[in-house]
Amino acid sequence: MSEKINNDKNNKIDESKYSMDTHIIYGKNVSDKWDYSHHVTAPISSSTTFRLDSVERGAQGFIQFANLEASEDKEHIFIYDRLGEPNKDMLEENLAYVEKGEMAVSFASGMSAISAALGVLTKSGDEIITHNTLYGCTISLFNNWYTRYNIKTISLDLTDLSRLADKITENTKVIYLETPANPNMGIIDLKELTNLISELNKTRNEENQIYSVVDNTFATPFCQRPIEQGVDFVVHSLTKGIGGFGTDMGGVVIGKKKFRDRILLFRKDFGAVLNTKSAWAILTYGLPTLGLRQRHQIQSATRIAEYLVSHPKIEFVNYPGLKEYKHYEVAKKQMIDFNGNFAPGSLLFFALKGSTPAEAKENGKRFMDYIANNSYTMTLAVSLGHTRTLIEHPASMTHSVVPPEKLIERGIDAGGVRLAIGLENCDDILMDLEIALKSF
Ligand SMILES: *Cc1c(COP(=O)(O)O)cnc(C)c1O
Repeated sequence: MSEKINNDKNNKIDESKYSMDTHIIYGKNVSDKWDYSHHVTAPISSSTTFRLDSVERGAQGFIQFANLEASEDKEHIFIYDRLGEPNKDMLEENLAYVEKGEMAVSFASGMSAISAALGVLTKSGDEIITHNTLYGCTISLFNNWYTRYNIKTISLDLTDLSRLADKITENTKVIYLETPANPNMGIIDLKELTNLISELNKTRNEENQIYSVVDNTFATPFCQRPIEQGVDFVVHSLTKGIGGFGTDMGGVVIGKKKFRDRILLFRKDFGAVLNTKSAWAILTYGLPTLGLRQRHQIQSATRIAEYLVSHPKIEFVNYPGLKEYKHYEVAKKQMIDFNGNFAPGSLLFFALKGSTPAEAKENGKRFMDYIANNSYTMTLAVSLGHTRTLIEHPASMTHSVVPPEKLIERGIDAGGVRLAIGLENCDDILMDLEIALKSF
C-alpha cells in the first residue's frame, strides 16, 4: 500500500499552477500505466515482451489495445513493445501535455509520424491541400507514394489564405502545412486558417470533416502550440529541437483523443515504433532542456539575423523575429513561448547577392564550402535544433527532390542558405560569419 500513499500525495499536487518550464522538468511522474514516483530520473525499460499472469490477462490486454472504451478506468496491461511500453508512454504523456493536445503517439522518426497522421485521415480518392513549401521528404512522400495510392495533393501558397476556399472539394480531407516552413521560413496564420476550416466544416457531415495537420518541428512547442490556435493535429520530428542533442531519431503525432486508437493501430501494423532507449533519452535530456536551449538559440538567431540583414553582401534574410520580414506581424501573433513572450525560433534562411540567380547560387555554394572548411562554429550538415550550429544549402541538399525549375514555385531561392542556430557563444558565430563573408 505504500505505493498507494505515494500516489495520493502526487495526485494532490495541482500541476496546472506551475509553469510549463517547471513542468517539463518534473513531468508526469505518476501515470495510470507506470509508477516511477520513487525514481528521480525515469527508469529505462527495455523489454520487447511482457509477462502475463494468466491467459485471461493476456486476452484482456488485447481487448484493451487501441480500444478507448475498453481501456478506460481499467488497469493498464503491457503486451509487446510495438503495441505500447512504459518509456514511450511516459514520453507521450509529456509531449501531449507540452503541446496542449489530448493524446500523443510516438514513432520511430518524424517521417513515420507524418505518414501515420495522414495515413489515418485519408484513403484512396481523397485530397490533401498542402502549403507549397515543405520538408523535402514530405514532398517526396506525396509525389512518389501518394500518387500510387490515388491520394491527390494540391500545393498552394498558404501564407495567402484567400485562395484556399476555391481549392477545397468534397474530397478534401486534410490541410497540411509547416509554419515556419522549411526552409524559407514562410509563416501561415493558424488562427485565420482554423477559423476558415471551422466555417467549412459546419456544412460537411461528421465523416467528411476537414482536418488540419501542422508540422511544428521548426518552432517546437516552446515557440508555438498550434492546437491552442484550433489546429487538429501536430506532428514533430523529435530528432530535431525536442531531442535537442542529435543523438536519437523520433517522431510524434499529437491531437484529439478519439483518433488515438486508429493511430496506435497504424503504428502496430506499419510498425515504425520509437526505440525505448530513444524515448528515454528524449524524455530525460531533450524535453527538460527545451526551454533553456530555445531561449539561448532565439537570442542568438535574433542577433545573427540583425547582423546579416544589414550586411552589403546579403540579398535578404527570412527570420520571423526580424521587423523587416514580411511575415513578422503574423509570427508575432502566434509564435509565443510558455510565458507569453515572442519566440521566433532558431532558424534563418538567407541568400547572398549575385547579379544573376545563377551567380547568387554559386556565391551561396562557395560561401558554404568556405564555412565547411574554415569555420569552427558552423558545421555543414542537415538537421537542426542541435547543440552545434548547422548550415546547409536546401536547393542542392534537403530539397534536391524539387527540380530546379520548380524551386521558385516551392518558395525556395536557389541561392538560399539555411542556418540552424546551436548553443555556441553567439559572438563566435558572428565572428566566423564575418570572416566567411569577407573571404569570397
Ligand atoms: C527532419 C524533419 C522531418 C522528418 O523527421 P525525421 O525524424 O528525419 O524523419 C519532418 N519535418 C521537418 C520540418 C523536419 O525538419
